[in-house]
Amino acid sequence: MTDVNPTARPGPGRTDRRAELAAGLARVRSRIAAACAAAGRADSEVTMVAVTKTYPASDVLALAGLGVVDMGENRDQEAAGKAAEVAAAGAAPRWHFIGQLQRNKCRSVVRYADVVQSVDSVRLARALDVAALAGRDRPVDVLVQVSIDADPSRGGALPGSADPDAGLGAVAGAVAGAAGLRLAGLMAVAPLGWEPQRAFARLAEVAEAFRAAHPEAVALSAGMSGDLEAAIRHGATHVRVGSALLGMRSTLR
Ligand SMILES: *Cc1c(COP(=O)(O)O)cnc(C)c1O
Repeated sequence: MTDVNPTARPGPGRTDRRAELAAGLARVRSRIAAACAAAGRADSEVTMVAVTKTYPASDVLALAGLGVVDMGENRDQEAAGKAAEVAAAGAAPRWHFIGQLQRNKCRSVVRYADVVQSVDSVRLARALDVAALAGRDRPVDVLVQVSIDADPSRGGALPGSADPDAGLGAVAGAVAGAAGLRLAGLMAVAPLGWEPQRAFARLAEVAEAFRAAHPEAVALSAGMSGDLEAAIRHGATHVRVGSALLGMRSTLR
């Protein structure tokens, strides 16, 4: 008999991918544990958000099966379909929206995302609030995205700025006063060309001042595959990890 039964071949199947993801997860978890130990923190203080952008729903399901609860996506168009597919398969991860968000996408995002990490203007906070009140029965947790280098072209609310739409104080106040939103903390991305230690040390100062005004908003989302150790050293409570967990993406996003 020749081997013609395609189902008999091992192929690039689910088990291989699951093993790959399990190995990636073990590596990332041990990096997080080592960084926490070095910083004198408990690893229970740091939540890993698996950034599944560009990867299929089957990977989300495999990660959920491995015990990952928090998943991150940065584009509504991709995330909405993926979240529906994952829900239809019976899994219920906590979705974090981490990308630049247009106001006309808020209605879609509040249907699946329990956390939006990328609110950086008063106008966006208001649109998200309206969408949340209309489209869900619980508030959305919001992290205000802050700009570490205060470059207004790259997004992020501006610490220390009195700008009525983009100043951090104004954005945080708008979120805190919105019935459909719950102010949970801050998020940031290290600016290109900044050494991560310097970026996250600066972020820690911003976070400290922010918590003086909003003591209940303790989440600090900082650090990705390449710089999670520096972020944990400077107080990150959430790290957003894509490529170190799932593999390199073919596109730069
Ligand atoms: C893609 C992305 C990540 C994950 O980046 P990796 O380097 O793949 O870990 C984290 N945060 C944001 C905002 C992202 O867009």
